[in-house]
Amino acid sequence: MTTAHDRLRFELAVHRRAGLRRLMPRTSPAPAVAPVAAVAAAPAAGARPLFAPAPATAATAQERQAELDRVALEVASCTACKLCERRNRAVPGEGALDPPILFIGEGPGADEDASGRPFVGRAGQLLDKMIAAIQLERRQVYIANIVKCRPPENRQPEPDEVRACAGYLERQIAALRPRLICTLGLPATRALLPDVRAISAVRGREFTYGGVPLVPTFHPAYLLRNPAAKPQAWEDLQLVARKLGIVLARRNPPPASN
Ligand code: URA
Ligand code: SF4
Repeated sequence: MTTAHDRLRFELAVHRRAGLRRLMPRTSPAPAVAPVAAVAAAPAAGARPLFAPAPATAATAQERQAELDRVALEVASCTACKLCERRNRAVPGEGALDPPILFIGEGPGADEDASGRPFVGRAGQLLDKMIAAIQLERRQVYIANIVKCRPPENRQPEPDEVRACAGYLERQIAALRPRLICTLGLPATRALLPDVRAISAVRGREFTYGGVPLVPTFHPAYLLRNPAAKPQAWEDLQLVARKLGIVLARRNPPPASN
């Protein structure tokens, strides 16, 4: 298990590199990542959180938007990990302030690297349908990734890359104040809940991250390859809708085309 000391050390490192901390003074110790009931009994040796939830702050909406803009500007020229070497455009993320949901994916693919926008390729089209299935529009939510630059050949981001990039997502979460976080796939889920070993073990269950409800589900790219898992993803989305007080007009899964 991670000790409070480890966590504090990590936070101090984040503190040093994150401009937000000047704007948003830490008012209380950051809460630990909520225990993951099913897996907490057997934490991996050496597991420690990559992310440390930032505390609530008194910043205004304007200040929080300015912080998001700063993050976008900083990632555009960031060289903190080797993913900078082959990127065309960094992909900071996009969407609404105070979103009902923050979706977190793994990292940009080719289409995102070319456009600078998250989830615009095939997986993005399915994510759009997932958002529509719970009666929201893409512009109402926020969509981000755990790494902002494309991993070559669409490989998973490596732990040092996720760690190097973590401060940006932490700042985004603190500035956005989402009502719920939905992690897409194992890499994104494990970045926030380090003890998780399999997405199938945690999807559709409720966790918290820094006091914010967190529901993991399958990554849309996985659903494109494994359409048989779509009914489970629909169950997860129904839980998300319930948590947000969204009354769904239809009870059956949306048409599973694509
Ligand atoms: N897959 C992701 O995880 N993120 C994107 O932005 C696009 C595809
Ligand atoms: Fe910087 Fe993140 Fe891009 Fe790495 S992936 S270069 S840490 S913005």
